[in-house]
Amino acid sequence: MKLTFSTGVAVLALSAFASGQQDFSKVQIQTVDVAPGVHMLIGSGGNIGVSSGSDGVLIIDDQYAPLTERIRAAVSAIHKDPIRFVVNTHWHGDHTGGNENMGSAGAVIVAHENVRRRMSSEQISEFFKRTTPASPKGALPVLTFVENVSFHVNGDELYVFHVDPAHTDGDSIVHWKKANVFHMGDLFFSGGFPFIDLDSGGSLDGVIAAAEKVLALANDSSKIIPGHGPLSTKKDLTAYRDMLKTIRSRIHSQVTSGKSLDEVKASRPTKEWDETLGKGFINADTFTEFAYRSLSKK
Ligand SMILES: [Zn+2]
Repeated sequence: MKLTFSTGVAVLALSAFASGQQDFSKVQIQTVDVAPGVHMLIGSGGNIGVSSGSDGVLIIDDQYAPLTERIRAAVSAIHKDPIRFVVNTHWHGDHTGGNENMGSAGAVIVAHENVRRRMSSEQISEFFKRTTPASPKGALPVLTFVENVSFHVNGDELYVFHVDPAHTDGDSIVHWKKANVFHMGDLFFSGGFPFIDLDSGGSLDGVIAAAEKVLALANDSSKIIPGHGPLSTKKDLTAYRDMLKTIRSRIHSQVTSGKSLDEVKASRPTKEWDETLGKGFINADTFTEFAYRSLSKK
């Protein structure tokens, strides 16, 4: 099944991240076939990956708590067994909001140790002027790792690996080695400029490096589940990486020569992509600011 990316949904979801509130009553969960035993669920918030088969069900990210029942219904339509594991790609609430519900129903929540660390304490986003309170104990990952962990389930190896600070400082990528599928969480915004959470230790160079890592492992048959946007391919990720590198180089040279943020914005370093990628929540100026601030930290 091929689904068209709706920019409106992404805008709504990301605006909700900024404001912390959203009306979920109209959200429907769509299921996309990715590979045998692998599905992607699109609802509101980060895309969900599903592995199912004789060993049961593992999901990657769980969107928002009010959607748990709808997510569970969509998963049940794929496979009747309960959800055994939830992997969080990073700590943001549009990817971990269902944790407490999933955990109390028996799922083991798994994530990089920085996901648990950030969810365990109040997080302040200077960029969004927003404070996120610490999550309740039942929402926290109970199994954490530092570098990587593998799930040997459903006839495949799901290799979950941490990357250096990129979207946040606790990002993980999931690689289905046999099915040739990746879930990149918010290391990949397919069809938009990236959100780089500098307040959570994010880095533009880290986002580029994460894309390079997946490109080195992927081939033309690979399917890539982005954190936001439609199911994608190596070609899509290559274009994304190239876009990021081009913009990085334009902004970096101006940072080095002491240009101000306003001067850099005025130079329109993102101009070729403003029409296609800049209509969502992260517009050209916002992305330029992320990049400028990230590169100025060096
Ligand atoms: Zn995120």
